This record gives sequence, structure tokens and C-alpha cells, in this order.
Amino acid sequence: MIFKKILTSSLLGASFIGLMAQSFIPAYSTRANQVTQTNVNTLLQEFEALGIKKTGTVANENALQWIKAKYLNFGYSAGQIVEDAFSYNNGMSTVNSKNLVITKTGTTYPNTFVIICGHFDTINGPGVDDNGSGTAAILEVARILKDVPTEYSIKFIHFSGEEQGLKGSAHYVNSVVNATNPKMNIKLVFNLDQVGGKIGNNNNTIYCDQDMGGLSSNNAASQAITLQLANCTTLYSPLLTAYDPAANSDYIPFEQNGEIITGFYEYTRGYLEHSANDTLANVDKVYVKNVAMASVGAAQHFAVAQSTLATSESSLADDQFQIYPIPTQNVLNIDFVEVGNAQFIFDLIDASGRLVMTSQNQKQIDVTALDTGIYIGRLKIKDKIFQKKIIIKK
Ligand SMILES: [Zn+2]
Repeated sequence: MIFKKILTSSLLGASFIGLMAQSFIPAYSTRANQVTQTNVNTLLQEFEALGIKKTGTVANENALQWIKAKYLNFGYSAGQIVEDAFSYNNGMSTVNSKNLVITKTGTTYPNTFVIICGHFDTINGPGVDDNGSGTAAILEVARILKDVPTEYSIKFIHFSGEEQGLKGSAHYVNSVVNATNPKMNIKLVFNLDQVGGKIGNNNNTIYCDQDMGGLSSNNAASQAITLQLANCTTLYSPLLTAYDPAANSDYIPFEQNGEIITGFYEYTRGYLEHSANDTLANVDKVYVKNVAMASVGAAQHFAVAQSTLATSESSLADDQFQIYPIPTQNVLNIDFVEVGNAQFIFDLIDASGRLVMTSQNQKQIDVTALDTGIYIGRLKIKDKIFQKKIIIKK
């Protein structure tokens, strides 16, 4: 958030929401359960280590490159990733920064976009809550949905310049959305800003942001989509929901452009944003994980994800299966929740899809003989198949 939200209210009783259900889709739930606490913690920790990511600074650019590297690591191609440069004058000099835009093309409506966004720039501190939390949640959504077909295209957008007055998002709307011919067709904008709360608070509820100001033409559509966001939250995460008016974040330039917006914001304010105390130690990491689960659910609903699981997906939750260390030089360790005395097979597949190693019931794999590169580790246990990306680095 660029500055403090003042208006909050419970516009619609949370108890209503469960009754207005879109139906529960088991595959969506399986994918929401693939959010892992380990991933969230690592993302927040790395985000913190990048320092004060003030727009225009080296740390800000480093953060953008860090996010970009995550997408490449998830398997998104360089061609799907755009560094969207912008500049503005702060009264003394020109400030240069970039947004990062990742496009996943839809199967049925490739030219209609669900935008899932949040800013990564910070001021005065490392900004683990504002907005490392939203950044981590978006990254988990992008990782989990990488190979999941969606009817609508998705743009994951990591904005900069938010803290200086929505500079990056305003640029994007003016110079990309409206400069595209024909104008970019946006189904909705789902913004995550400050969703980490403060450790020690009872963070069991998330605000769903509804457009109640600005243009009036898009308010009803925002209300409808925000109800769906709340419903997805209830269906696919442990969180409760409440409503507040959308304000002071990157969805506002879209709202001003007539787009349909919604978003998440922490319900119990931590009040550490924009301070040196907005750190990993002070954020509620479990809350971020829960928000990420809700976001995976909502993203699938909004973009209409395939409702059946591919064979590469599994009902074995991601955090029940670990391979480490990554990268590795010599040995891979496999760890998962045992299913009785079930036999398991572990395969390593190289970048060209060739099976290069297979083993049975071994939890330590010697990979000394393999070359530096990216591989897929595939665990087969009972009727489940689970895959993770492996990096071998000599
Ligand atoms: Zn923020």
C-alpha cells in the first residue's frame, strides 16, 4: 500500500459467502495444497535479503532480476517474460525502474487476460509484509499453474514504483494496456498487497478488496468478482473473509481505466509497513502460506483452469515430498511421507525428456555421473506421480 488505508468495513456478511458458492473443484484444491510453507519461507527470506528495494535503486533492479530468475526456474520461457521499463521525474531527477510481466497463454481466450499482480518495490525497510508477502504468493501461484491449462490467459505482473504513487501500474495501463491495438482485453485484475500480517496476531481472516469508488461503471462487476474471490478463499484455504474498499494500490490505475478489480489485503493490520521493522521476523509466514493457497484457488477459478489433474500432478501434497539439496553436486536426498510399506521408484529425466537414471526404494541418489544441467526428478509411489525440478551443478 502506498499509504494508510482508513476506510474499512464489512460490506457483506462473511456468513453469506459460503451460500453463494461456485462449486468446489477437487483438482483446484489439490493444486492449492501444493503451496508449501518451505517455499513461502524461502521466498520471504530471499526477499528480505535483497534489502530496501526503493524504486530506481540497484536493490530494486536486483529484486526484479531475482523474480525473473524464479520464473525461469519454474520453467517459464524467456519469451514469456517482459521487463517493462518506465521512468518518472521525482522533482529532482529522473527515476528509472521496471515492472516484470509474465504471460501464460490461455487455451480458449488467448486474448483475454486475468491479471494477477503485486508490487515488489519497498521503502524504508525490506518490506517483507509490504509487499514481499504478495510477491511470494504470486510466485507460488505461478509455480503451481505453470503447466496447468487455463481457458483465459494470465499475466503475472510484479510492479515497481508503487510506493511513489502507483508509478509502475499507471505506466502499464497507459503505455501497454491502452497502447495495445486493439486495447488489451482484461477480464479482471487481482492485486495482492500486504498480506503477511504481524506475527502474534490472530491472522485468520483476509480482506477482499472491492471497488467502491472512482468510476461507478465497474463497481457492480467488482462486487461480483470479489464475492467469487471470497468464495474461493473459503473453498481453498483455511482463511475467513471480510470486505473492504479497494484503495491505494496497483489496481487503482486499472480501476480508473474502467477495468474490473479485486484484491487481498491483511485484515488485522500489522502497521509495520514502510518501516525498518517490516522484516521476516515480524511477518506471519503461515498467514502468507494461507493467502497463497487462496490465491491459487482464485487464480484457477478466474482463469478457468483445467478441472482434472494431469498425470504429472498428484494428490500427494507438495510439502510432503522434498528433494534436497538443490542445486546438488553429488547426492540427492529424497524425503516424503511414507505410505505404508509402499515401494517407490525415483526417475531422473533430462531436459530433452530422456530417462537418465532410475532407482527403487532408495532415498539417497548418487548423481556424480550426471552432467551439470536441469533435470526432472519423478517420484512414483502407488498410483501417484510427483515431479520436481532438479539442478545438478558441478
Ligand atoms: Zn504495498
